Amino acid sequence: MARRKKIYEGKAKDLFEGPEPGTLVQYFKDDATAGNGEKRAVIEGKGVLNNRLSEFFMVGLQQIGIPTHFIRRLNMREQLIRQVEIIPLEVIVRNFAAGSMARRLGLEEGMPLPRPIVEFSYKDDSLGDPLVPEEYIIAFGWASQQDMDDVVSLALRVNDFLAGTLYGVGIKLIDFKIEIGRVWDNEFPRLIVADEISPDSCRLWDIETGQKLDKDVFRRDLGSLSDAYTEVARRLGVLPTNVTHRPAKPTLIN
Ligand code: C5P
Repeated sequence: MARRKKIYEGKAKDLFEGPEPGTLVQYFKDDATAGNGEKRAVIEGKGVLNNRLSEFFMVGLQQIGIPTHFIRRLNMREQLIRQVEIIPLEVIVRNFAAGSMARRLGLEEGMPLPRPIVEFSYKDDSLGDPLVPEEYIIAFGWASQQDMDDVVSLALRVNDFLAGTLYGVGIKLIDFKIEIGRVWDNEFPRLIVADEISPDSCRLWDIETGQKLDKDVFRRDLGSLSDAYTEVARRLGVLPTNVTHRPAKPTLIN
């Protein structure tokens, strides 16, 4: 890892040059931040869990025909991904009211929404990632109308997959965030799921008890974040010590 050129340093992940053109290595750190970086901690093992969980979800999406940037996991903390042009949006899908939506509208957290709601924040830490309407996105040229139609369709397919997969292990998908990237295949642009899908970017509640199993545990000081993420990984069968029964496990190359 030290030999590779770092091309981006994020709050929870770093990106390095990949071994082939058009690829990157995504490194998952143990750093946890909340409130746009105001609250910080190092949670031992979080990067390892998120690397595994993001791999699990991205591979599952690919297996049902939803394109993602994931190529293969390289080791405990790194995965090889396709380089994309990131659309500068946080694409949020909500099934139940929580977080900023509950605050903004004075809704009780956990209230079912009449249908999944897709919303967009402009990715800019200095502005606090403000919520933006689709009209802004198109007017400012961050994405085209066709892109946005594709983004919404991708986001809803991801929602159906994640909600169903998590329901199968007794977890309710309250909401999540994804990022979308553009790739070029033979001059044709295509939108694919990028970044990560992990308990850092989702709200996950135990169906029976309502216990939070996501980053809100850290944001709201509700207990051990690594215990919560370990529980999600255990239920999905992707604990680092418990992966032998998983089919089609990517080959470790270092
Ligand atoms: O805070 P808010 O309610 O808007 O978050 C909605 C969803 O998006 C949550 O699952 C949260 O974890 C995720 N999110 C994220 N990164 C951000 C903001 C929100 O992963 N910068």
